[in-house]
Amino acid sequence: MLNKDHPRYQSLVYRDKIVKAHEKGILANSGMIAHGRGETFDYLIGEETTLNSKNTIDVAACYFLTRKNPVLSVNGNTTALVAEEVATLSKLLDIPVEINLYYRTPERVKNIEKVYNELNVNEILGTNEDEFIDTPDLNGPRSPVSIEGINKSDLIFIPLEDGDRAEKLVQLGKETVNIDLNPLSRTAQTSTVTIVDNIVRVMPLLIKSVENLMNSNKKELLDKIDKFNNKENLNTAIQDIIQRFK
Ligand code: ATP
Ligand code: MG
Repeated sequence: MLNKDHPRYQSLVYRDKIVKAHEKGILANSGMIAHGRGETFDYLIGEETTLNSKNTIDVAACYFLTRKNPVLSVNGNTTALVAEEVATLSKLLDIPVEINLYYRTPERVKNIEKVYNELNVNEILGTNEDEFIDTPDLNGPRSPVSIEGINKSDLIFIPLEDGDRAEKLVQLGKETVNIDLNPLSRTAQTSTVTIVDNIVRVMPLLIKSVENLMNSNKKELLDKIDKFNNKENLNTAIQDIIQRFK
């Protein structure tokens, strides 16, 4: 039982979700370590959403609302922490969820598919029944991507993604929206839009932003995209961390 008076209560709640997901066969061992790396950066950014991140979340919403075939690519960590919000976003935008695992095993895929099925997601791709092709020049279990999902799509949401795969997606000409607490990771550095914040804080804000912008005209959304520069965004995120050391 977690003690609500504990000064790091929220952080313990998320750790508990991660441990439970691991026990349920949703999360690989390395996913627990990746969570710890995220926690470190969350400490450094002050465990709150910065003004810069709020703006970046709005830009991400503009991308979702102006691209033809966005897809939400999910792994074990994302599922452990924000499966409900992923399902909500998928319904709101009427876009598929694709299971895309670094350590892909039929068992884990099945367990994750069950989570999104229970949340009534309309279209789940990357399941064991799907057809796959290999990501060019990427070997091993993280290489296969669903033909209907990532391969067809023009905008891919890749929260907490691995750098090798993110780089390959960009080389394939895909646009990517990433959530990563580490502004220096290769995924953060190569994505089209990088939200440097904790996925648990981002998802509710992203859903709200999509709802707010849904009825805006396309030109307004494209203008907001035009004004955005991911290198500047990442530099601001790094400066925000440096400020906290002063
Ligand atoms: P890269 O492969 O992009 O160079 P990496 O090898 O350092 O990065 P991975 O383990 O491949 O990292 O991916 C996990 C990433 O997810 C890490 O950068 C970590 O900071 C980030 N992360 C972990 N938990 C969260 C979270 N709750 N919210 C946002 N980001 C997170
Ligand atoms: Mg990596």
